[in-house]
Amino acid sequence: MSTTMQQYIDEAEKALLHTYNRYQVVFDKGDGVYLYDMDGKRYLDFVSGIAVFALGYHNEEYNDALKEQIDKIIHTSNYYYNLPAIEAATKLKAVSGMDRVFFTNSGAEAVEGAVKTARKYAFLKDGRTDHEIIAMHHSFHGRTMGALSVTGNPHYREAFEPMIGHIRFADLNDFDSVLEQVTDRTCAILFETVQGEGGIYPATEDFMRRVRKLCDEQDILLMLDEIQCGMGRTGAMFAWQRYGIRPDVMTVAKALGCGVPVGAFLMTEKVGAHSLVAGDHGSTYGGNPLACAAVSKVIDLFEKQNILANVQEVGAYLETCLDSLVEEFDCVKTRRGVGLLQGLVFDRPVGEIIKKAMDKGLVLINAGSDIIRFVPPLVITREHVDDMVRILRESIQDDLQIKTIQ
Ligand SMILES: *Cc1c(COP(=O)(O)O)cnc(C)c1O
Repeated sequence: MSTTMQQYIDEAEKALLHTYNRYQVVFDKGDGVYLYDMDGKRYLDFVSGIAVFALGYHNEEYNDALKEQIDKIIHTSNYYYNLPAIEAATKLKAVSGMDRVFFTNSGAEAVEGAVKTARKYAFLKDGRTDHEIIAMHHSFHGRTMGALSVTGNPHYREAFEPMIGHIRFADLNDFDSVLEQVTDRTCAILFETVQGEGGIYPATEDFMRRVRKLCDEQDILLMLDEIQCGMGRTGAMFAWQRYGIRPDVMTVAKALGCGVPVGAFLMTEKVGAHSLVAGDHGSTYGGNPLACAAVSKVIDLFEKQNILANVQEVGAYLETCLDSLVEEFDCVKTRRGVGLLQGLVFDRPVGEIIKKAMDKGLVLINAGSDIIRFVPPLVITREHVDDMVRILRESIQDDLQIKTIQ
């Protein structure tokens, strides 16, 4: 590493609050599926800013749309209408089949909005203020207090107790465990259609179908968090569309703006008509013209560039390649995932393997200590997958060699 890059890293560690153990690299620019650090070293990117940069870096049409919007107007206020927000909401409705959109600035804020929607919906029904939400163990919904309260990982929550009350936890794909938590105060059941941070666990069809039925029978809201698994990542625009059901509320963020900070929570007409009204919720920035110009262009480009078809094809190829690594290495236990959201489960911590891959010019990320997560830009090709697998194989071999020498 150059001394200049090292100096910047040292500076960062003096100024930024140390809430991340960062990799020792300063990324400077991106092009397609490649990142470049300050020294000009090129990296194949299989992280895309954690499932954000779906269209790859330096997509000209996307960049031009943002530049154009910057020259027109960046921000107004939600007290006025703006064209990009109208367009973005209309397009988002069309691709999701949901009916009402509220734009936020992040995923966590979208989850906050979903939680408020559920409570208000139930409050309007019976006037009670002790409604409960059922969330899942090993889930991840964000770091703000409400989102943290429904995140099923005690490690993230412990130091920040008390959480918001009346949250119960069940196990994803264990319908009986959900049933056990249902009371006459249950207002919503919330889960990620594919658990991301928790280790890439897709909801099973049986689980999804039974929870949907339960929610219908008891007028409980089914709320799906599509922040990581949505926006084409599984080969459908939203992962739940693969199950032939529709949620009552869904959250989306990450790839929604492909790099511009934006999220949203969406709901059906029925929920929209019986929950949040003027004065109940708001956001100064939420859905501002710049963010929505990004959303609007992203949805256009998904269609124009045939993103879903590419995810289906290259995702299937990635699965095959990862499965061959499971065959090849004893230390690789199994593969899980859908489309271009995949996890490779090791019998050991993967930190060293990821560092070695980084040295060799491949960016990877973990999900938990022993899973490598693959969330590349959705525009990758089979050749990129081949390159990734070659470097990953070398990195695993290097790691094994070091382990035996020690
Ligand atoms: C990343 C993520 C969030 C939180 O989004 P932020 O934009 O970081 O607040 C919530 N839910 C899921 C499933 C996520 O992957």
